[in-house]
Amino acid sequence: MNAHAAERRRLIIVSNRLPFTITQEQGELKFTESVGGLATGLRTFLASLPDPQSPVSEHVWVGWPGGTVDDALKSAVRKKALSEYRSFPVFLSEQDIDNFYQGFCNKTIWPLFHSFPGNVQYDREYWNQYKKVNEAFCDALQDLIQVGDLVWVHDYHLTLLPALLRARFPLTPIGFFLHIPFPTFEIFRLLPGTWRREILEGILGANQIGFHTYDYMQDFLRCTLRILGYENNMGEVFLNDRLIRVGSFPMGIDFQKFHSAASSPEVAREQDELIRSLGTSKVILSVDRLDYSKGILNRLKGFETLLEESEHLRGAVTLIAVVVPSRIGVEDYELMKKQIEELVGNINGRFGGVSWTPIIYQFRSLPFHSLVAMYAVSNIALVTPLRDGMNLIAKEYVASRPDKTGVLILSEMAGAAKELGEAILINPNYREEIAQALREALEMPEEEQIRRNQIMQIRLRRYNVTRWATDIINELINVTRREETVFANLITPPKRAELLHRYHDASRRLIFLDYDGTLVSYTRRPSLATPPEEVLKILRSLGEKGKNTVILISGRRKSELENWFGTLPIGIVAEHGALIKEKGSEWKMLKPLMADWKPKIIPILEGYADRFPGSSVEEKEYSVVWHYRGTDPEQGKLAAMELTDDLHRFTANIDLQVLQGQKNIEVRNTGINKGTAAAYWLSNERYGFVMGIGDDLTDEDLFTALPADAYSIRVGIGRTQARLSLRSPKEVIQLLGNLAQGDDRSA
Ligand SMILES: [Mg+2]
Repeated sequence: MNAHAAERRRLIIVSNRLPFTITQEQGELKFTESVGGLATGLRTFLASLPDPQSPVSEHVWVGWPGGTVDDALKSAVRKKALSEYRSFPVFLSEQDIDNFYQGFCNKTIWPLFHSFPGNVQYDREYWNQYKKVNEAFCDALQDLIQVGDLVWVHDYHLTLLPALLRARFPLTPIGFFLHIPFPTFEIFRLLPGTWRREILEGILGANQIGFHTYDYMQDFLRCTLRILGYENNMGEVFLNDRLIRVGSFPMGIDFQKFHSAASSPEVAREQDELIRSLGTSKVILSVDRLDYSKGILNRLKGFETLLEESEHLRGAVTLIAVVVPSRIGVEDYELMKKQIEELVGNINGRFGGVSWTPIIYQFRSLPFHSLVAMYAVSNIALVTPLRDGMNLIAKEYVASRPDKTGVLILSEMAGAAKELGEAILINPNYREEIAQALREALEMPEEEQIRRNQIMQIRLRRYNVTRWATDIINELINVTRREETVFANLITPPKRAELLHRYHDASRRLIFLDYDGTLVSYTRRPSLATPPEEVLKILRSLGEKGKNTVILISGRRKSELENWFGTLPIGIVAEHGALIKEKGSEWKMLKPLMADWKPKIIPILEGYADRFPGSSVEEKEYSVVWHYRGTDPEQGKLAAMELTDDLHRFTANIDLQVLQGQKNIEVRNTGINKGTAAAYWLSNERYGFVMGIGDDLTDEDLFTALPADAYSIRVGIGRTQARLSLRSPKEVIQLLGNLAQGDDRSA
């Protein structure tokens, strides 16, 4: 990286919601700060930006300001948003809100990603609107993004955006963070084929992709392998032309804010009031947004079981159940609210009396100080979601206990459980387990409470929300730097000019070209990779030039290559060098080879083809191949390892080699490779320009056989002996096109 690396850069945050909400009252605009976890967390991070150590110098926030805004007022909103909130609003229409936000976001992705497949709606209108809104965000960013900016896209509303941006801004570093769980493959694949592919491809438009936990990250990587066929190495996904890094970053809270608020006079006042009304009863706190993923009913039932089984606790414990209004007007949510209120009524009727109400139920939003006061008076926080991406309530409770007492009961289905192992972890589906955890918490000695909270507080203080965001942004910068080193051998315009110059200057030129993965992209079935007209045209025009010797050097069978390329003015190498054909001559063998071993090997490969659907055996004259591109990707990879092992054992005493190709395993005679084939031509004559292009392991033999001043070019990225690289077959064709076009001066 150049000297700009140390420069601090502008950050563009993109999330569905802006950190404020606009409402229109009698034509007047009102801006209210949003209280969601993301808005609050990032606000804390952004407030830290004056710190010269931060990689970010300034920011802009792009998102929806909530509700709809009359056209006439939009420019006023834009102006105020930019000047007072450094924000750039993306306005949504009624239809967007219905089909994108209420629809695809909240009725498709939300339930599916939280593993509630029964609640998922599959609606084409929702999907179309989701695509449209993602495109609208992309359009909004079009004029905003400048060279040097970092872009950070948030959450499940905008999964298609990274790829849309990537298409328009190939070099801009883009991060993506998912704040909800990523589901397992079995759940994710319930989405229709095009949706699931577009969502994965969309997210993979980012350079850096973050999840709250290692599990979500693994589930995402498994889906990209099984659905798109992209392998990863320790979370790094290499695409032809890009490097993507996937990692887990558990989102933190503003620890200090909660910690010091808990000792503030305002909180103390509210706390006193609460204590007065609750008396000596031990307090259990439950706070959630109204949502089926939060497991509120299960929790109430768990408390009911506690009261049923432990008579002595009746009158001695009180559950404060705060439900924060959410998605008002959505049917499922209205129904759930009714069920919660009925259950609370039942429990209170059954166990309560004049002097004691078992559950104090509140359906309302809590202002910050009231929330902290609740945390401060509660002996136990009961946080038992059925599924939750992270859950910040659990962290906030621990932070709001300055004397370090208090017990956190936490669902193991919440992302936060991965960090807060000192909590009492429970399975939220089983009411007896909730009741048992409550008993354990009520009996826990104070020293033990302090011991546990102390460990958790240290962790939460260190990995706070500012650290979380800074880590992710540093990682984003690192990934783009690493990508630059990985692609350092790429043929840049000056290198290309030099290559063209050398080509034109040479009176004799030798060019080796691999076929699959070099001149054409891979297809699911190797037999389908018929050469396109464009490739044939370029090969002919290069081969026709008197100064050129062009050799197509492939692992394929003679018959296939002869069929496709036999009439072209070029040389051909088949089966990685077993058979060669000079321009205008007949096929011949480079050295005498035996094929009597084939009947022994073929049955082994056929056994694998039978066991692993989608794989096949190909018999060539002097080699046999097991192709597994069509198999289940995870199974195919393991099977390939197993087969390689089998073959190594079997061929130990025979003059054979076992080679791993791109999704195939080949057995052939030793001493034959593309390098020995290339040597045949290299030893014939002196050439002023030598070039070899290939994409896989078998081409490495070619690269090493070429003279030191030759142009060896690897297609795609990975470890290679080649001096240069190109991203894709498309770029190879472009380069060859440049060579073919240039008229031979003094030809
Ligand atoms: Mg190849």
